[in-house]
This record gives sequence, structure tokens and C-alpha cells, in this order.
Amino acid sequence: MINDAVKLKPADKADKDLLAKLEQEAGTQVSLCYQCGKCSAGCPVAFAMDYPPREIIRLLQLNMTETALNSNSIWVCATCETCSERCPRGVEIATLMDSLRREALRRGKKGDNKVAAFNDAFLRTVKMFGRTYEAGILLQHNAVTMQPFKDAGLGLPMVQRGKINILPVRIKGRDQMKKIFARVQEQREEK
Ligand code: SF4
Ligand code: SF4
Repeated sequence: MINDAVKLKPADKADKDLLAKLEQEAGTQVSLCYQCGKCSAGCPVAFAMDYPPREIIRLLQLNMTETALNSNSIWVCATCETCSERCPRGVEIATLMDSLRREALRRGKKGDNKVAAFNDAFLRTVKMFGRTYEAGILLQHNAVTMQPFKDAGLGLPMVQRGKINILPVRIKGRDQMKKIFARVQEQREEK
């Protein structure tokens, strides 16, 4: 929750530039928000966030972008877009969360290690096979986060019911996928 006792500082040029950049990337404006709370009410993972979506927007309105960048909320957000769909003011909260994540990564912040490990494992399988490979993601994630048997009991029933494959399924255009990843990497290095 936002602490009422926190001292607000007037926005300087760097603060304004950062907010403008985040808003431009997300294609939205935080000043549109009138704090109705519909976004937080519909967010399926708000219970696990230190600042639910309404408060993330409020932090940005109050020039507390650094607090938003350090929050666990931006890593917990599942990009389900429920908040954006529900917002009566058309604030693109989901894409704003994504912009905050990217800005946090640019600043070397990785947030929750387990979330970052999941993200890395997911992208690695997409790069290798052209699509997600759930069993591989689970094994990589558990190895990196030092919890080898996490959810192990769920694996076999899911395989038996055909929910996940033991072996990866590969798409045909994997070279194209690798080119996309290489291009993204180049763009990151150019920044
Ligand atoms: S639903 Fe929209 S207007 Fe309401 S609090 Fe969330 S961002 Fe603000
Ligand atoms: S996009 Fe993120 S913040 Fe919005 S409702 Fe979904 S999980 Fe919550």
C-alpha cells in the first residue's frame, strides 16, 4: 500500500522525461486515471502485489516512479489485460506495466528472481523450438531457483492427460525466430 507519510518531491525534468517515455511506450496517459479501482478489483494477481494496479498508476501520478520500478507488482503482473479492458478511462495499464518492466530491466533491476528465471526459461524455449515447451521451462526454472522437486507431483498427471508434452514440439520457421531474437538483442545494444 502507498504510505501516506511518504514525502513527495516536486517533479524535476528527469522525472517528467521518464514518465513521458513510459507513457509514450505504453501509448497511454496516467493523468486520465481517476482512481476508481476497477483495475485492482479485476486483477487476478493483485493479492500477490505490493501495489495493486490502481496504486501503481497513483505512484506514477505522484512522481514516485522509482517506487513503481522497485515494486514486485511489475513482475507479478501476468499481462492478462483485464485491467486495461475494464478501465472506464481507457488507461492502458497492462502495457504500462510492460513499459515499467522494460525500464526496470534497462536499469539492471530483475525484481523477483523466480519471475526473472521463469521469463528467461520461457524465452529460451521459444528461441530454441519456436514455441513454448512447458516441461523444459519447469525443469530449467526449478534448476535455476534451486527447488528441483517443485510441482513434480503435478507433472505426471498432466502428461497422462495430454496437457503437456515430454518432448518439445518444434515449428518449421525456427531460423526466423532466431533472427527475431538477434534483432531484439541488436536493438537493446544500440540503446
Ligand atoms: S480502472 Fe482506470 S480509472 Fe480506474 S483506477 Fe484503474 S486505471 Fe484508474
Ligand atoms: S494485466 Fe497485470 S495488472 Fe492488469 S489485471 Fe492482468 S495481471 Fe493485473
